Amino acid sequence: MERLEIHDLSALFSVLKQDGYQIIGPTVRESAIVCERIQSVDELPAGVTDIQRPASYRLAERHDNALFGHRLGPQSWKRYLYPPRLQLFQAARTEKGITISPPTNGGAGDLPKYAFVGVRPCELSAIGIQDMVFARGTYVDPHYSAVRARIIVIAVNCTDPGETCFCASMKTGPQTESGYDLALTEVISAGSHLFVAQSGSDVGKELLARLKAAPASAEEIQRAEDLLDRASEKMGRSVDTYRLPELLHANIDHPQWDELDERCLSCGNCTQVCPTCFCSTVEDVTNLDGTEAGRWRKWDSCFTLEFSYIHGGCVRATTKSRYRQWMTHKLASWVDQFGTFGCVGCGRCITWCPVGIDITEEARAIRAQSTLLSTSSKGEM
Ligand code: SF4
Ligand code: SF4
Repeated sequence: MERLEIHDLSALFSVLKQDGYQIIGPTVRESAIVCERIQSVDELPAGVTDIQRPASYRLAERHDNALFGHRLGPQSWKRYLYPPRLQLFQAARTEKGITISPPTNGGAGDLPKYAFVGVRPCELSAIGIQDMVFARGTYVDPHYSAVRARIIVIAVNCTDPGETCFCASMKTGPQTESGYDLALTEVISAGSHLFVAQSGSDVGKELLARLKAAPASAEEIQRAEDLLDRASEKMGRSVDTYRLPELLHANIDHPQWDELDERCLSCGNCTQVCPTCFCSTVEDVTNLDGTEAGRWRKWDSCFTLEFSYIHGGCVRATTKSRYRQWMTHKLASWVDQFGTFGCVGCGRCITWCPVGIDITEEARAIRAQSTLLSTSSKGEM
C-alpha cells in the first residue's frame, strides 16, 4: 500500500485531466454534497459533514479538515452512467419523408471519460448491480456500457458512516473489496493528513507509479485499518438478512403493508435517490410545427400509478401494493433475478423520504410480527 498526501491528490487530479478525464467528485452545492464536475481538490467539501436522519439532511462543520468526512448526498453516480434523461433517436420531416438519425448525445466519440473520485464502497456495489442490469444480461444498454467502459474509479473507504447507513449488514461496506482502480482511506491524526492508497487494477498501479507515491508505513496502514474496524461499529442501522427473501415472499399479506399504505405518499423520492433503481419510461417530444421530434428515455418510478398500466388498468392500484413491490423487489425478488440484493444499504431512501419511512424498520417489523423465520442467525442470506 502507498501513501498520498494532499499535494499528491492535487497531482492525481492533474494526471487525470491530462489523460482527458472529466473529474466528478463530491462538492457542496445548495446546502447539500453532490457529485458534480470539479476541477481541483479545493472544490472537495473540506471540513464539511452532513447529519442525516429519516426525512432530514443538513450540513455541519467538522472539527478537522477532512476532504471525505461526509456521507452520501442525494445524488449517486447513476446519474452519469444512466442519465435521468437520454435521447434515443431523433426524427425530422423532410420533403422526402421522415428521416431518423442518431441521438445528439449518442455517438461514442461524443461520450465523456469520467474519473469518479470519492466513490464509497456501497456505491461501488450499486454500480456492480447496475452492471448486471445494463451490461451483463441478455440485453445490453449501449449507452451505459459505452460510458461504463470509459470510467476510472477512485474509491474512498468510509471511516465515518451516518445514522441512516447500513452497508455493513448488506455486506457492501464500509471497505471496498473490488471494482475500483484506486481505493483511498483518509487518515487524519495530530499533525498529519494523508491517504493510504491501494490499487485495484493496472490503471490504478500506473497512477500510483506516475505520482511516485511512497509506501505507507506499517503504522499508517494500521491506523487506516483501525478506522475501518470502528466504522462498522458506528453504522447507524442494520438489516437482518437471514432468509430475508423467503421472509418477504411469505408475507405478501402482512398487516405492515396496510400500515405503510397510510404513511407512504407514493412520491417516488426513494426510487429517484436509490443508486440501484433502474425503471424508465419513453417519451416522444416534437417541436411546435411538427417538423422535428425526439424519443427520450426518462427515469420512472414503480411508485407511479401509470408505471403498472397494462391494457386498460393498473396492476398496482394502491400505495400499499406499490411500496410492497418496491421493497420486495429490493430485498427478495432481486435475489431471484440477479443473485444479490437490490439494496446496498446506502440509506438515501430513508433520508430523502419526506415522511421518514425507513426500509430497515419495515423489514424489522415484518420479521418481528411474522411467525415464520422469527429466529435470526448471523445475517446469512
Ligand atoms: S433501497 Fe434505499 S438504502 Fe437500499 S440502495 Fe436503495 S436508496 Fe439505498
Ligand atoms: S416510501 Fe417515502 S419516498 Fe418512497 S414513495 Fe413512499 S413517501 Fe415517497
